[in-house]
Amino acid sequence: MKILIAEDEDLMRLWLETVLGMWGYECISYTDGEQAWQGLQQPDAPQLVIIDWEMPKLDGIEICRRVRDDPAMRYTYIIMLTGKSETTDIVEALQAGADDFIVKPCHPEELKVRLRAGSRILQLQQELLLKASHDQLTAIFNRGMLMEMAARELDRTTRTKAPLSLLLLDIDFFKHINDRYGHQAGDAVLRETALCIKADLRSIDIAGRYGGEEFMVVLPHCDADAAFHVAERLRVKLTAHSIVYADTALKITVSIGVASGAAPAVGLEDLFREADRALYRAINAGRNRV
Ligand code: GH3
Ligand code: MG
Ligand code: MG
Ligand code: MG
Repeated sequence: MKILIAEDEDLMRLWLETVLGMWGYECISYTDGEQAWQGLQQPDAPQLVIIDWEMPKLDGIEICRRVRDDPAMRYTYIIMLTGKSETTDIVEALQAGADDFIVKPCHPEELKVRLRAGSRILQLQQELLLKASHDQLTAIFNRGMLMEMAARELDRTTRTKAPLSLLLLDIDFFKHINDRYGHQAGDAVLRETALCIKADLRSIDIAGRYGGEEFMVVLPHCDADAAFHVAERLRVKLTAHSIVYADTALKITVSIGVASGAAPAVGLEDLFREADRALYRAINAGRNRV
């Protein structure tokens, strides 16, 4: 696990790097508060942090406040390390947003168990985040996360002017699969369809389960023509694919609605509504089409 150290005293910093290295942590160290704050804003910044209270340029308390005030920042577990030991100091640090507080000089065993508590919280938080953003059956993004990411991508089009496209994909007569082969066969079809969709996309594309037997793909930097081709390729691929369940080869067809646009001319609701309308047109025109 990576750990960020912000400590201006050389001896203390060296000691921290040495013991943390011995315990298997990878340390990234800073010698003043301003540098540490810059480091914390990097996309791959460590989520476990040890900060000294008194440092040049920016003190640990101010860093805690900034971390907690930044809604875009990933959850960061902050241990405040300081020579101050009055109850009022501890209250001030925790109120500013620190998760824990260690008084210098600290005993290595105390540091070790407090870090372990921090790692535990971070791991739990990551598991919760994963559960909240992913569909349990197919392990791809769920509807909430899809909406959030589509909103973020549409927001980006204001600057890039490059259009964003949405594909809304519906498995045709899916109820028949459940009715004829059972719910578990239906589940297998949903899982396999999700895998197939994901395998077909660029790394910047976003795929998720919209609900039931409906999937959504968000295609950044993709106009209507290109999106239509992606959708058609996906439809052909899914139609050709056989999903083997309990020695039975199951076949599906899909209907796909496509919508494209860029902000501010087009809003997220418009895009979703248009994709939905297009999907209904595909279904009403006889299914198995884009
Ligand atoms: P259409 O061609 O008009 O889209 O019909 P359809 O049968 O595909 O769609 P319909 O909306 O009538 O039925 C969807 C079915 O999907 C009903 C529901 O029981 C089933 N379903 C929803 N979620 C799950 C799931 O997680 N697992 C399984 N096995 N079935 C599911
Ligand atoms: Mg200091
Ligand atoms: Mg449906
Ligand atoms: Mg359907």
